[in-house]
Amino acid sequence: MRFKKALATAGFVAAAALLLSGCNSGTPGAPEGGGEGSGGDTGASEAWEVATDVQLEGSPTFDKMQKDGKVVIGVKEDQPGLGYLDNVTQERSGFDIDIARWIAASLGFDEDKIEYKAIASANREQAIMNGDVDYYVGTYSINDKRKEDIDFAGPYFITGQGLLVKAGGTDYQSLEELEGKTVCSATGSTPISNIKENFPKIKTQEFDIYSTCVENLISGQVDAVTTDQAILIGYAAQDPDNLMVTTGPLLTEEKYGVGLTKGDDALRAHINDLFTNGGDTWQAIFDKNLGTSGITVEQPKVDAY
Ligand code: GLU
Repeated sequence: MRFKKALATAGFVAAAALLLSGCNSGTPGAPEGGGEGSGGDTGASEAWEVATDVQLEGSPTFDKMQKDGKVVIGVKEDQPGLGYLDNVTQERSGFDIDIARWIAASLGFDEDKIEYKAIASANREQAIMNGDVDYYVGTYSINDKRKEDIDFAGPYFITGQGLLVKAGGTDYQSLEELEGKTVCSATGSTPISNIKENFPKIKTQEFDIYSTCVENLISGQVDAVTTDQAILIGYAAQDPDNLMVTTGPLLTEEKYGVGLTKGDDALRAHINDLFTNGGDTWQAIFDKNLGTSGITVEQPKVDAY
């Protein structure tokens, strides 16, 4: 197995997806506690309590939530394991969704007071700036360009850019090997920028959402899909006959943050405090949603800027 810990710093430890390509675990340095069971039926609803009588001085976003009697959360809904809407049951699930619910509960809002809005990667800053969502939780990498428009709490998860190809296809080890090929990603995402800026010989195709890229990969329109490994693992796990995550090293480091209105320092401090002092809740949410995915990540330290 050739999966390298390219990003072994910053507490990131990745394991190749055990489910996907028959890789053995073999990732050294798994975090302590990583051997704990997969979580099984650890109900995340039991992992946190809905707070009562919450006071949050100086947060315009929280004031608005209280006035409206609800919280509006921007999410993804086509990313299994992270942010997913089951079209049949209408249930939302995933690591990001439970992180979003945990934050809502800490602010006094139970599930029936949450309104979810699916916002594609390219539209996140604008949705936050417009006040269309109170906060955003959806594989949203913290970076300086985005910080010009919005703020981030966190990080609460670390992954990195990977590649998804057809099962049984080429196990690309780097982006250089894809020169002349067509790679698909989402508009406005960090992986599409990385390719366009640094690998001009790769042809790109873009869509609003990654699931469209995945459909195009299966139908042979594109040679690979690139985005965060954690997202790709979710697609491959859903369709292992057609899809596999390549085993090359991760291409970037992506630290996920909660997108917030710029300047709402009180809300940012509240969420950072929740992440820092939230006890076992982060781990329970991870185990429930990603415990059997083959991803092994420790909870990152909050970077309270
Ligand atoms: N984490 C990357 C980003 O924020 C890729 C995933 C996504 O588009 O949500 O751009």
